[in-house]
Amino acid sequence: MRATRLLQKLLKIENLVVLDVAIEDDDDGQLLVVSVRAKRRQDSRCPHCRRRRPGYDRSHHPRRWRHLDLGGMRCYLQGHIGRVDCSLHGVVTEHVPWARPAAKMTRRFDDTVAWLAAHSPSSAVCEYMRVSWRTVQRIIARVVADHTGQTDRMDGLRRIGIDEIAYRKGRRYLTVIVDHDTGRLVWAREGATKKTLRQFFDELGATRSAQLTHVSADAGQYIETVVAERAPDAIRCMDPFHVVQWATRAVDRCRSRVLNRIHGLSNDDRRNLRWALLKNPENLTPGQQRTRELIVKRANSELARAYQLKEELRHIVTGEHSGTWRRLEHWLHRADRSRIIELVGLSRSVRQQQIQIYNSVVVGLSNARVEATNTHLRALTKRAYGFHSPEALIAMSTLTRGGACPVLPHQ
Ligand SMILES: [Zn+2]
Repeated sequence: MRATRLLQKLLKIENLVVLDVAIEDDDDGQLLVVSVRAKRRQDSRCPHCRRRRPGYDRSHHPRRWRHLDLGGMRCYLQGHIGRVDCSLHGVVTEHVPWARPAAKMTRRFDDTVAWLAAHSPSSAVCEYMRVSWRTVQRIIARVVADHTGQTDRMDGLRRIGIDEIAYRKGRRYLTVIVDHDTGRLVWAREGATKKTLRQFFDELGATRSAQLTHVSADAGQYIETVVAERAPDAIRCMDPFHVVQWATRAVDRCRSRVLNRIHGLSNDDRRNLRWALLKNPENLTPGQQRTRELIVKRANSELARAYQLKEELRHIVTGEHSGTWRRLEHWLHRADRSRIIELVGLSRSVRQQQIQIYNSVVVGLSNARVEATNTHLRALTKRAYGFHSPEALIAMSTLTRGGACPVLPHQ
């Protein structure tokens, strides 16, 4: 078998013909350069509509595309391509079967990088694939754009969650829309205002907006306003995730206030105290468990009551009990009369959103998937990723949570 035929088999790229192969030296060692062309009926096509168009010109210099390493050696495809004159899209560089439009890497290289970026730390991707992080972000944007062009993630939306995420150390915000039924991120844009949210409904369109049955969000007033005007028939829900967050913060404020009034705590106990009150009981370390028991024993202390009320609220809104409305009423009554200012404040917020909270519990929006998506998106914004733009961050979250992750070439 000749070397060119062997390579054609190894590359496994459709509509590609191998013309020649050579080994070159550069500063980073040796590289394999494979000269290729598109099969006859696949050349001279517009990259956008894929129709055959008359040639416009041809470049004198060959173009190169980075491909997956072969036998540990960096590999490039090389070919002469030209521009075509498309009646719809103007004069454009012709389509090549092995790469996305304007890419300097082959489709297989792109897909492998994107898959790795979705599954492993950024440093591992860069080192293994021998590319910069900036290149990885560009590849992700390309793969995601390619995917979203093929399937419309906004089709068939019924139950959505609207959330805002602090980004760049809280100086900016992103509005994100999550599909409750699939757990996928369907839309994200920089900004957290009425205008941002209206953009989402504009893209969704009137027909699909009318098909929304449930919309969940935190208590943001601007969300309330826009949802009322664009999806008036959808049932409004309040993510239990946020209610638990409110309660946790209330207990945290209460802790700071009363900490100095509790006697008989060792330094270790004081250190444990914060986590003992914040974490779910089942996740506590033995030390934190001891501290928690100490607090709970002093059942009269404000902090112990605050903690118990928080735990009860968490149980109610995460749907672990039946008779949600009655339980909520009972809880509100006790929180109001607790004489703990943080809890009285919390009960006011809960009462304002009581119907929305009840809706969520009844409809079962308190599912772990929504919380997982939330946690994931927040972790993404915190990871030492240095996204140079909100678009890059959105592309990354669409890749991992938006169903845009490509399969590996061998799958
Ligand atoms: Zn065209």
